[in-house]
Amino acid sequence: TNWINGKTALVTAAGQGIGRATALAFAAAGARVFATDINEATLAEIEGESGVETRKLDVLSDDDVKAVVGEIGHVDVLFNGAGFVHGGSILEMKDEDFDFAVDLNVRSMIRTIRAVLPSMLEHDGGAIINMSSVASSIKGVPNRFAYGTTKAAVVGLTKAVAADYVAQNIRCNAICPGTVESPSLQERMRAQGDYEKARAAFIARQPMGRLGEAEEIADLAVYLANATYTSGQACAIDGGWTI
Ligand code: NAD
Repeated sequence: TNWINGKTALVTAAGQGIGRATALAFAAAGARVFATDINEATLAEIEGESGVETRKLDVLSDDDVKAVVGEIGHVDVLFNGAGFVHGGSILEMKDEDFDFAVDLNVRSMIRTIRAVLPSMLEHDGGAIINMSSVASSIKGVPNRFAYGTTKAAVVGLTKAVAADYVAQNIRCNAICPGTVESPSLQERMRAQGDYEKARAAFIARQPMGRLGEAEEIADLAVYLANATYTSGQACAIDGGWTI
């Protein structure tokens, strides 16, 4: 189906990486897209793309979320892209880092879903797509305690929302990527000191022998927006990491 054609989509973390690719892919599929991010400079780079409007939105702020959703009015498709990777094991993790990971990786999705759901229910349904990771309930990944724990929570919240609203035509699914080329991945590789070594290690995790592209993940987001018989799924897209 091309259910998304003519629908209104709200995309968070659309300034770069998977969120940006998804905002552009939704627009190419015929949606009216509100591409949002905390970073106005990166958003400015996609302002003016056909079908795309940009808005500053900090998903850590309930007021911000309510204001942007209030301005848009009805949202048919919500893409929750915001997320942050903390390194470290349970013993290395700082409590404040865990609190931040819960707030950005999990509570942000609760804020946006609460803001769009009432109108989706009034309008006979909608599609919600949440960014999780294979580093979640799917796979334990070394050195990713806060990340894996919060991304597992994303899978749980996805299934809980799907279960509560399946009869009202709300579909809620999660995307669980392996390692995907993105500006923040570049930062993490540079931060390790030896960029080439860090890059080789990330590639070595992927049996396909390469990193994923943001556009490949965006294709799955479009599929899930259009997947009118699919809800509550955690869809791995991981270069073979979990074969
Ligand atoms: P990225 O990390 O490069 O970009 C993240 C974006 O989020 C930035 O534009 C940033 O400005 C925005 N952001 C940060 N805080 C925000 C806030 N408070 N409010 C609104 N926006 C905010 O992008 P990416 O690497 O493509 O990751 C996107 C999502 O995909 C994340 O949830 C990430 O955990 C998940 N993911 C990424 C990978 C990967 O390998 N890149 C793998 C699995 C899952």
